[in-house]
Amino acid sequence: MKLTIHVPVMKIYPSLLFFSLILITLSCNTDPVKTADLILLNSTVIHVDSAKTIPGQFIAINGRNILEVGPMAEAADWKAKESRDLQGAFVMPGLWDNHVHFRGGDSLLKENQDLLPLFLAYGITTVRDAGGDITPAVLQWQQDITQGELPGPRIFSSGPKLDGDQPAWPGSIVVTSSSEVSAALDSINVIGADYVKMYDGNLSPENYYEIIRQAEERGMKTTGHMPMQANLLDAVALGLDGTEHLYYVLKACSPKADSLTALDLGYGMVTTLVDTYNAELAEKVYKTLAENEVYVTPTNYIGHILANVLDEDHSKDSLLQYVGPGIQKTYEGRVKSAERARASGNSMRSKTEGQFMSMIKPMHQAGIPLLAGSDSGAFNSYVYPGESLWGELQFMVKAGLTPAEALATSVINGPRFFDITSAYGSVAPGKRADLLILEENPLEDIDHLASMEIIIAGGAVYDQKQLDQLLKSIKNNPQ
Ligand SMILES: [Zn+2]
Repeated sequence: MKLTIHVPVMKIYPSLLFFSLILITLSCNTDPVKTADLILLNSTVIHVDSAKTIPGQFIAINGRNILEVGPMAEAADWKAKESRDLQGAFVMPGLWDNHVHFRGGDSLLKENQDLLPLFLAYGITTVRDAGGDITPAVLQWQQDITQGELPGPRIFSSGPKLDGDQPAWPGSIVVTSSSEVSAALDSINVIGADYVKMYDGNLSPENYYEIIRQAEERGMKTTGHMPMQANLLDAVALGLDGTEHLYYVLKACSPKADSLTALDLGYGMVTTLVDTYNAELAEKVYKTLAENEVYVTPTNYIGHILANVLDEDHSKDSLLQYVGPGIQKTYEGRVKSAERARASGNSMRSKTEGQFMSMIKPMHQAGIPLLAGSDSGAFNSYVYPGESLWGELQFMVKAGLTPAEALATSVINGPRFFDITSAYGSVAPGKRADLLILEENPLEDIDHLASMEIIIAGGAVYDQKQLDQLLKSIKNNPQ
């Protein structure tokens, strides 16, 4: 095999000099029999599931899919329109952020859309949208991204949330009876929602259970908040697929849960739940959650940001420049509620922070599939798309997971929730070619995600130049 170097394209981008990426075409003495759009040469393939790396690999890609992965000796069998010599750089599946929101009403449509490139810039090639009030726009982006007309991560969406007759968020579908549950599931089915998101503005435990029961019959996945009056293990017995944030798991781990439920305290019971957390009971609860493959999305990073929102000065955050003024305005709400909480002596957030962190490792060890999710979106102050998922992964490691285990909560468990591991979760033939190319190995240190240089998503290759351009296009007051 002879490699003909055509263009040393990266010369002008200092951050990429390490790679010395080159465009090359393959010309072979014998006719190659297999063809691809793109071939990555000299890759070090990261296997997140086994925490192993395999150097000296080629990766052949056609459109959005990986055709073949193998030792460099076999690359000669391939002819590609474009080739890139990665010179040993690491290749792993694109990240999944399993809990994000697009919301804030029609006046913030454009600002929400502008967040899409921010996800890509941080290597997030798939997001699970956990419900909002601009569903038609989200569904349109979903389609445009799939068709390659809009740069952004692949979107899985719940569509509108299901809540009681005083929903916590605008755009939610109100369900107050079994027939309304049925109608709500019909309506989100019609729009092609990927799962059902429940919320607890004032959803009754009975209707919460009814949603799970009916969704189970229809083969629809359910996750979300739980009314604090409900019982998580009862919901699991009915077929609950996931639970967002750790309040509801925490409740199940307190022997005082029943007596606190009788007092009808809502989230007012949380500090007592922390005080009465029982490790022995927790072990049984975790075992049940694991046996029933209930996906738990901790969202500990946002918990930390919100617990400290009054004490941190975010006004100089560099990522604010990519968040539109309308969304920035929504950040005031959480600051105000933190001020109210402090004034009233409510210490729920600071009290839960350490407790929730301490639950991560035992949940993982029990076999519960954890999901990395940021909860980024309008109203969730200073939790920036992209960076916040990295933050959540760092928190998984801080809580005791290895970097590989932390990455699995994003790139493996994300697709597992949707039963699509045949297409995602590893760099292997037949999988989607949503890939990250990194200078340094993130299995050694989760902070090595910052050495990300190239992102391949939805059939497009974004190197630093393209990513810079994308970010420039969404910058406030571009210079
Ligand atoms: Zn959320």
